Amino acid sequence: MTDSQKQKICKICNGQQHKNYTAMELVYGTKKSFNFFLCNNCGCLQMEKIPKEIADYYPEDFYSYTKKSRKKDLTIKTLIRKARSRYILDGNGISGLILHRLKKTSALLETCREIGIKTSHSVLDVGGGTGDFVWQLRSYGITDSIAIDKFINEDVYVEGKLLAKKTDIFSIDKQFDIITFHHSLEHMEEQQEPLLHAKKILKPNGTILLRIPTVTSYAWEKYGVNWWGMDTPRHFFLHSHASIKLLVEQVGLKIKKLWSDSTVSQFWVSEQNLQGISIYAHNSYGVSPEKSIFAKSEIDAFERQTANVNQKNRGDTICIILKHEDVK
Ligand SMILES: [Zn+2]
Repeated sequence: MTDSQKQKICKICNGQQHKNYTAMELVYGTKKSFNFFLCNNCGCLQMEKIPKEIADYYPEDFYSYTKKSRKKDLTIKTLIRKARSRYILDGNGISGLILHRLKKTSALLETCREIGIKTSHSVLDVGGGTGDFVWQLRSYGITDSIAIDKFINEDVYVEGKLLAKKTDIFSIDKQFDIITFHHSLEHMEEQQEPLLHAKKILKPNGTILLRIPTVTSYAWEKYGVNWWGMDTPRHFFLHSHASIKLLVEQVGLKIKKLWSDSTVSQFWVSEQNLQGISIYAHNSYGVSPEKSIFAKSEIDAFERQTANVNQKNRGDTICIILKHEDVK
């Protein structure tokens, strides 16, 4: 078997029948192209050969790695947020109940409730950049929480406490109640190994949250290699619902729940990609809505379409709750 044939064996199911695609780097507009193949058997779209210089495609200003100043905040707003989140996550605190009824809960806090995070839980966020998600969790009162990311420049401390550690999951041996992969698994060269290790350090009744882009989506079918979720070459694996289920079962985990959480960016970024407008261009909707190619009515239509595809579980990103296979 030649090297090029070996590269085209599906890394999820070992399938050898596939369809080829060529996708370009579009976020920074270098337009360098990369080969992908989509497995006919499990439906996983994957990069044929991971570039050796992949770190070069994570520039200093990559969104997860920009350093923000984080100061301890004891304003009334912070105290209110803590009271609300304690009520939402732990189900106690009367002031939180009142505050919860007054204001719509943030999507992130709703996800935390969905996966059953309590303020007493320990949380590990894998591939969490400089710790944005963990910083949010701490603001909700979830203090035993930490991010890890091997691509950050150095460990990040806030007020003398470690927020994000420069490392990968294989160096972690502490047990956690909750392990999250927020759009990080698709950036990893191996798919089984990180999940196997996560399972090893997950407490018996613990929960793993995976958030990934998926080709089982309207956006992939409509936009193909111009689909925003490809983010070439940073995403190596674009799973189908079937391939992620297979992967999870291979490592002895099971899916407790899977749902679409896609956003309107699946439409406006993909439409801009079709027209060669990078998300950082001066006329990108993300930079300047007024100078963009979209009328407000078009964005409104994208919003309605987003709600529609999410409701049909055809959104381009999914949230998946995983448990040990023996947990009922
Ligand atoms: Zn496959």
